[in-house]
Amino acid sequence: MLDLLKQYFGYDRFRPLQEEIISNVLAKNDSLVIMPTGGGKSLCYQLPALQLHGLTLVVSPLIALMKDQVDGLKAIGIRAEFLNSSLTFAEMERVRGAALQGELKILYVSPERLALDSFKALLNHLSVSLVAVDEAHCISEWGHDFRPDYMHLGEVRRSMPDVPFIALTATATPKVRDDIVNQLGLKSPQRFVASFNRENLNYEVRAKRNAFGQLVEMLESRRGQSAIIYCQSRKETEEIAQDLRQYDISANAYHAGMDADDRRRTQEGFIAGEYPVVVATIAFGMGIDKPDVRLVVHYSMPKTLEGYYQETGRAGRDGLPSDCVLLFSYGDRSRQEYFVNQVEDQLERQKLKIKLDQVVAFCQLRSCRRRYLLEYFGDETLADTDDQNSCQGCDVCITPLEKFDATVISQKIMSAIVRCGQRFGITHIGAVLLGSKGKKVLELGHDKLKVYGIVNDYDRTQIREISELLIDRGLIARSDDRFATLRVTDEGRKVLKQRDRIFLSRPKQEPTQRRQRRQPERSQSSPGELFERLRELRLTIAREQGVPAFVVFTDASLKDMAAKMPRTLQEFARVSGVGKVKLEQYGEQFLSEIRDFVGSDAPTSEANGRTHSINRSVRREGSTYAQTKELLAQGLSVRQVAYQRGVTLGTVASHVEMMVANGMSVELESSLPGGAHLGKIEAAIYQAGGTSAKLSDVMDIIGGNYTYEDVRIVRAHILQLNGPNGQS
Ligand code: ADP
Ligand code: ZN
Repeated sequence: MLDLLKQYFGYDRFRPLQEEIISNVLAKNDSLVIMPTGGGKSLCYQLPALQLHGLTLVVSPLIALMKDQVDGLKAIGIRAEFLNSSLTFAEMERVRGAALQGELKILYVSPERLALDSFKALLNHLSVSLVAVDEAHCISEWGHDFRPDYMHLGEVRRSMPDVPFIALTATATPKVRDDIVNQLGLKSPQRFVASFNRENLNYEVRAKRNAFGQLVEMLESRRGQSAIIYCQSRKETEEIAQDLRQYDISANAYHAGMDADDRRRTQEGFIAGEYPVVVATIAFGMGIDKPDVRLVVHYSMPKTLEGYYQETGRAGRDGLPSDCVLLFSYGDRSRQEYFVNQVEDQLERQKLKIKLDQVVAFCQLRSCRRRYLLEYFGDETLADTDDQNSCQGCDVCITPLEKFDATVISQKIMSAIVRCGQRFGITHIGAVLLGSKGKKVLELGHDKLKVYGIVNDYDRTQIREISELLIDRGLIARSDDRFATLRVTDEGRKVLKQRDRIFLSRPKQEPTQRRQRRQPERSQSSPGELFERLRELRLTIAREQGVPAFVVFTDASLKDMAAKMPRTLQEFARVSGVGKVKLEQYGEQFLSEIRDFVGSDAPTSEANGRTHSINRSVRREGSTYAQTKELLAQGLSVRQVAYQRGVTLGTVASHVEMMVANGMSVELESSLPGGAHLGKIEAAIYQAGGTSAKLSDVMDIIGGNYTYEDVRIVRAHILQLNGPNGQS
């Protein structure tokens, strides 16, 4: 089994439970597998499929994923196909033919297909050795995702009583588990329940202060990496995606209100690695099987911990360190409570309230967040470790907080806010408290107030920090407008009046050392740079072959490759994720990229492929325009060119304009805004007087939804098509 694991999948060892499950399957027993997302469920039936004589049938409701999965299997030399409604009749016939000829090892089918009589007839002629039921909770009406077509599986089961079945799911309460066993008619199945601890995920709850700024900061330090931002409303997803694009972060919105085409484009672009950031409502995710999502942000508070666990679970399926950041504010909490209170049904309302309180409790934890989550899901993995804060993968464990008595300073800050008439921001409040002789303080006569100059044990920065903590605690509030004026909340007035003691929490002065793996990757020296280059190569190959980037290699493989820096095919074979087929297919290309990186004196073969020579030819050809032109010609968008070259989008736009003005032809296909956007911008340019119109006039006409660069690129496109008198 280990041989098969290495030869096909390129892995050296099994993940927890995989080996036990596979043995059980090969012994022809039924299995029920409950494993979190990213745990490695697929291998539990894919590897047995190689060993067994006949066909392995995989039932999965996630039609959108089937093609990628099958492409992934083909890429490692496993004969697999799928049958679902996306195929043409001819394609369907071909797959049926191949199945009947016994040419396939694995066949994916959708539950809809399975329900058809024609498929049941086909089944009678196939020699099926194993049936895998993915997302098995769909068979249960108690689950959250019931699919009536799954009921047909009971019948399939009865028609082949001797074939082992394996049912797999990431979510199942005990009730749903029993339901799966009963509905599928599993025969004394062995149950495998993996730990729900996602060790590679780092959980963090941050006070939401300048949320958008916090978001940009997170994304900028992870440029090029995949991230999902979950928002509350459809409108919010669009606004944030739009705003992020102003920062040159190629983000797309996704929500259930968009038309199917736009949704598909966002989803495919995300999976393919072209648009790394998606700003979405929780509608996004079901069926997103992207292994290298490095960051999941909850821009507002989730409604339930189940949802939170599921959404954060989309990060780091490849097992590499990934971050889950929840931005928490009392404002969001009140908003959620408001929505819950609108629910008519009393029982339902009660239920939602309890769920919401659990989320709030999670956000306010002073102890390990991971442990809380696991215990919530009945997972005892961490329960008997002595150290309550030992996970080293959540903000509480990494930076322990300490409580301190902030009664006096808090009272002073709140009094100053009240006495200044609740019309000023923290800068002014601080100035008054510290007894500033500044013009504004004197002009307003605030030097006459009782609170003037009463603080001498805190400085400006500290006063600012305390006031942030008071905001987090809901004792004072800041206005949303640009004046950011402070006021004391009802809660704050109560506390002031009752002279309650006020304890605040701040990070302990000496934070414990972060675990090694949490070091920022960007600052690493060469392996980091090499990794980036290998990613580029992977993207180029993926484009050529029309498959998602991770079908070529996962991030985990590239990381390992960059760390090991293999020089020969033999060494290359030791990289995680490199099996026999990938070694043959990609070995040389990646090796030469590595050699190229390690040093120009190392021998390189000019013969193999244009991909790795891109970097070199660009370097040779010199001119900055030529570089831009070349990258555009390879199908990169202007944004991607800017990112790849480390220059601003504006610079790339001027290159394009310059070249077009000089009559050079430039490839702009991937840079033009999609769908109706192109038409809208074109219309605005014409309306403003054509390609020689002032950009600002065009911007006035289309409103704030586009950037100057969008307009400049469209203008260049028009010029290129029609010449300078484009308005004719
Ligand atoms: P699940 O279906 O449980 O969400 P997958 O089957 O998609 O998880 O596996 C998640 C990732 O882990 C994939 O990229 C897969 O290739 C990888 N993987 C699975 N088993 C192993 C293993 N034994 N060693 C290394 N990586 C593995
Ligand atoms: Zn922890």
